[in-house]
Amino acid sequence: MADAIQVPRGTFDILPADSVARARVYSAAATLFELAGYGRIETPAFEDTQLFARGVGEGTDIVHKEMFTFTDQGDRSLTLRPEATAAVCRAYIEHGMHRLPQPVKLWSWGPFFRHERPQAGRFRQFHQLNAEAIGSDLPLVDAELIMLLDDLLRGLGVPGLKLRLSSLGTPASRVAYREELLAYLREHDDELSPEVRERMAENPLRAFDSKDPGTRAAMAQAPRLIDQLEQADAEHFAEVRSLLDQAGVEYVLDGTLVRGLDYYTRTVFEFESERLDAQAATIGGGGRYDGLVEALGGPPASGCGWAGGIERILLAVAEPQPDPVADVFVAAPETQAASAFALVHELRNAGLRAELDLAGRSLKGQMKHANRLGARRTVILDEQGAAEVRDMQSGEQTALDLARAAEALSR
Ligand code: AMP
Repeated sequence: MADAIQVPRGTFDILPADSVARARVYSAAATLFELAGYGRIETPAFEDTQLFARGVGEGTDIVHKEMFTFTDQGDRSLTLRPEATAAVCRAYIEHGMHRLPQPVKLWSWGPFFRHERPQAGRFRQFHQLNAEAIGSDLPLVDAELIMLLDDLLRGLGVPGLKLRLSSLGTPASRVAYREELLAYLREHDDELSPEVRERMAENPLRAFDSKDPGTRAAMAQAPRLIDQLEQADAEHFAEVRSLLDQAGVEYVLDGTLVRGLDYYTRTVFEFESERLDAQAATIGGGGRYDGLVEALGGPPASGCGWAGGIERILLAVAEPQPDPVADVFVAAPETQAASAFALVHELRNAGLRAELDLAGRSLKGQMKHANRLGARRTVILDEQGAAEVRDMQSGEQTALDLARAAEALSR
């Protein structure tokens, strides 16, 4: 036998048994977004590399070392999307959505790609649920988006949820802070990990995100942006918090919260679950990105959004889903296979989950198979085409009028 080929490292198959729980998350999200007036958008799996270099930021881990980038046959640099927001902003610009009533509220679901070190809850192809509202800078937008993710995760029963909330101010206010933080990092550079030291000039805020114990200890005393917000940013943030308080959404203020993408301004947040490993505990996160649309060549348009990781939601919920059960199995001898085939078609059209033998089993083998499928009832055709229906629980068997089969079996 030839060597079997396996999936690339960090990727996985979604098997039928995994699909039930996934479909539940999808349908909860679709309902939530429909009720909140969010429209579904799908963007391509790959984009012009420049979109992420400019959108996510050259100094971020994502762009710096995690993108799957390739050159196509036309010598164009393309990248498998590592995140959704930049692409949704590109679509907002490309389709002139600034002419629609603002904000434009969009959601999406699909695969994303990052070249990370695979571990529990961290993959190279994973799936995200995204929500974006573009075209309004009101704190109401931030609060609504946070509330939606909170509602979704609670509705799905994610245990041990914690919402961390902060504000990063505006890029202008960050300039002075950056210098102050950089000076602090230089003073403490012997306590920092080599990686943080190497990258601190490029993006000093990332030092707050380090898992290195020495760096973490040094960062505990570092100056915080949240303590020196400009008045307009502080007022915006206070309003977001007040709206969340009124809606009963619980959160903790965390001035060490930085996100792995450069485009954020003002509000940032992350949901974690205690159920997950500390290395991959974030279930979803997001924030405001008021300069992104303009940076990507669009009109000035504020935006806010989040992404939730489907695999992490499923890991955290981790409840076994029962297999769906067939309503009816149609068993027939070989001579009646065509009648069984027609009957199954008719029953499915009537909305029943109906199956038949597709492997040439004997009648006895078909009864065993019906049992294995957990079918509630089995229709048994005889050589003459007459039918009986067997209740698989009680074993009771009665005659079935085939002319009214769908009606009788729907009861
Ligand atoms: P981020 O854009 O990094 O904030 O990611 C948003 C969410 O996507 C995270 O909170 C995770 O739930 C999920 N996520 C990010 N990267 C990965 C990955 N490599 N594998 C699985 N889930 C991920």
